[in-house]
Amino acid sequence: MLLAGCCGLENYNLAGLDLAQVAITTRSFGDARQFVRDNRARLPELVWLNQIHGGLVVDGTRIKPPPVDGDGIVAKEPLMVAVFVADCLPVALLDGLGNFGVFHCGWRGLASSILANGVCEMRRNGAKTLKGVLGPCIGPCCYEFSPEDLGIVAKAIQVDPSILEAKTNWGTLSFDLRRAATAELSRLGVEIVIDDSRCTGCHERLFYSARIRNESQRMAMIVGRSLLGESIN
Ligand SMILES: [Zn+2]
Repeated sequence: MLLAGCCGLENYNLAGLDLAQVAITTRSFGDARQFVRDNRARLPELVWLNQIHGGLVVDGTRIKPPPVDGDGIVAKEPLMVAVFVADCLPVALLDGLGNFGVFHCGWRGLASSILANGVCEMRRNGAKTLKGVLGPCIGPCCYEFSPEDLGIVAKAIQVDPSILEAKTNWGTLSFDLRRAATAELSRLGVEIVIDDSRCTGCHERLFYSARIRNESQRMAMIVGRSLLGESIN
């Protein structure tokens, strides 16, 4: 699955979609938000958002410092786009022709149509066949959830709640965020080409987790053409 790892940056192997690259930072990279803040002048092409757990998708060319509110960015090169995550699911969408987007996808974002809005916006910009990359997120093994909230997200993405239900390692009701995003992308006609199913709660040596370890640091999913260049490494 991983093409290269360097300094806490793992690149996904996107054969055939290489007009953009997708990477996830890991714990050894450090807090991605702090890195981005510290390197703002060195990375003028990198744009990100003030994430608010909603469904708002922003055109990357309109983002200038300070970051605007939103949870999804659509763009073309030469921009690089990033979302920050600990347990929420980072999703990249690409058409292989230079259109790409990145989305911060938690249950609230899903319930606010973040993925549907992103797909709609990319198609409006001319994207045709969209492929999806799902990064690591908290797994159902670690994601205790209420039946009420599970019902809200199931209704929003038009699935039966039972397909999103699971059990935590300690036996309580949990929510399968990855399955929810997969169902939503399937409904939207997006084929998932990479599914990084590692759980951020279980993989404590690789990833931060806000829910399981109460950590405030974040990973970043970064999408853009020049990721293997020097700017991020
Ligand atoms: Zn887990």
